[in-house]
Amino acid sequence: MKAQVATDLRHRREICATGRALRELGFLPAAAGNLSVRLADGRILATPSGAAKGELTPGDLILLWADGAVLPSRVRGSRGNRRPGAPSSEIQMHLRIYSLRPDVRAVCHAHPPVATGFAVAGRALDRAALGETAILLGAVPLAPYAAPGTADVGESIAPFATRANAVLLANHGVVTFGEDLRTAAQRMEMVEHCARVTLLAELAGGAKLLTRAQVRTLLESRPRYGLPPLLPGAIPWIAAEDESGKQ
Ligand SMILES: [Zn+2]
Repeated sequence: MKAQVATDLRHRREICATGRALRELGFLPAAAGNLSVRLADGRILATPSGAAKGELTPGDLILLWADGAVLPSRVRGSRGNRRPGAPSSEIQMHLRIYSLRPDVRAVCHAHPPVATGFAVAGRALDRAALGETAILLGAVPLAPYAAPGTADVGESIAPFATRANAVLLANHGVVTFGEDLRTAAQRMEMVEHCARVTLLAELAGGAKLLTRAQVRTLLESRPRYGLPPLLPGAIPWIAAEDESGKQ
């Protein structure tokens, strides 16, 4: 019990620190975005609705069952005996990802401006332009628009959540996930980096894409980076031949 409380507190602190870091990067304007972690016993620790994610303290976080029911929780250092607030309106999206991906232990949802610009333009980040992104992140698909805060968002990303670790949400933002919060947050940074470089390449005259053979070689190098095999049915990269119309 004592060990579990200590682990909970560690995750609570990690979520607060990640919220501050993503806020400083400009990915979480005002009260936007939400973060969650799935604990070893299956419960979910999530950021509360309406709070600035850069100003959270460990006691602000909400504990839920996997079906979304909120658990009463208090940790040492939380503010008095305050009742827990409501979980983020996007918690349904997080729960959907956890149900589809047993390997996922953390979910980050944010509004990084350039990647969100691509989501608003209706464009996936799936053109093979950056070698490192091809290896570490994978192609980022675009999920169709769904009203933020509704269960429809979970439904819109469901077809992609098993085939990618990052998804653009049309006219909304980005969601990333991984085996821990650090990985999910790093993927959010990588998505924004990929979006920035793609935009700059277009301003500089247009990206020269990698060839299919170059992409294959990059993907085959994943084990050297200690990365697991690609997800089954991973979203394919658009390579140079695809854009030029060659087969
Ligand atoms: Zn959002």
